[in-house]
Amino acid sequence: MTGLQLSVVVPCFNEAEVLGTFHSALLTVLDGLSTPFEICYVDDGSGDATRELLAGLALRDERVHYTAFSRNFGKEAAMLAGLRMSRGAAVVIMDADLQHPPELIPRMLELHRHGYDQVIPRRDRAGEGVVRSALSHTYYALVRRCMDVELIDGSGDFRLLSRRAVESVLSLPESNRFSKGIFSWIGFDTVSFRYRNSERVAGRSKWGSRRLLNYGIDGLLSFNNRPLRLAIYTGFWVLFSALAYALWTVITVVLHGADTPGYATLLTAVVALSGIQLVTLGVIGEYVGRIYHEAKHRPPYVVRETDATCRTLRERRL
Ligand code: UDP
Ligand code: MG
Repeated sequence: MTGLQLSVVVPCFNEAEVLGTFHSALLTVLDGLSTPFEICYVDDGSGDATRELLAGLALRDERVHYTAFSRNFGKEAAMLAGLRMSRGAAVVIMDADLQHPPELIPRMLELHRHGYDQVIPRRDRAGEGVVRSALSHTYYALVRRCMDVELIDGSGDFRLLSRRAVESVLSLPESNRFSKGIFSWIGFDTVSFRYRNSERVAGRSKWGSRRLLNYGIDGLLSFNNRPLRLAIYTGFWVLFSALAYALWTVITVVLHGADTPGYATLLTAVVALSGIQLVTLGVIGEYVGRIYHEAKHRPPYVVRETDATCRTLRERRL
């Protein structure tokens, strides 16, 4: 073992504007800890100067490491790369935009020393739009019903993992990763505490509503086949209602004779059924797509360079 106590994993995508501020804030906290640490940055194919900045930081400070992707592979892939790089006995994953305050790290480490394998700071939703926080609440309620794993509302990817928790995360072979679910799935002793949410310091959030929606669907579908089950139940329910309705129609016709109106009901039934069929098909398609994706066995990301490869290149040139 290296004696390295702490690794901080930071996925970065177009964060050139905040990176300097973030790095010095983080260093201030880490230097105060008096434990050996490393910082593992992952550049997720940024289009701005993020990679050059990271290379500079790594050159000046050997506690700083980075991996740069060949293009944008998404935060999930970036977190995975960061966890693979990390060697510390405890690993903290955090965002680069200072929405995850580095000042919380000492408290997280303290809780880890008390024996917790996962320490999760939960943000309250202060400062977040009403619509977005309402949607989040609904989503978490839905997920809780549909999934086998428990997701804590307000817990993002900001957390501390012990070495054995990291190893268990890395031992999962799936390439379609939904970390929030995976972190919860691995189990271990977990503790959470609240902190105040803050706005990102500079730059823009990369999560538009469309991206969030896709992320949400990913989360719901990546853990079990309960949505598929739901589709089957809905199908049965509709079928049963349709049969009951048919029976009722036959009875009224026998008792009172036929009357023509009612094509509206017919139309509603047809439209509702096609809707249900489309949803069901979509759900099945999603699963088939996932199987196809996993069957290709593609790696979750492609590395362009790391601080180590850069150093070797530089030495060769000298
Ligand atoms: N991020 C990333 N790849 C992406 C999108 C985001 O590595 O494709 C990083 C980003 O640099 C930041 C963190 O993930 O450090 C969270 O992103 P952001 O602040 O945009 O999300 P939000 O806080 O709005 O949920
Ligand atoms: Mg953010």
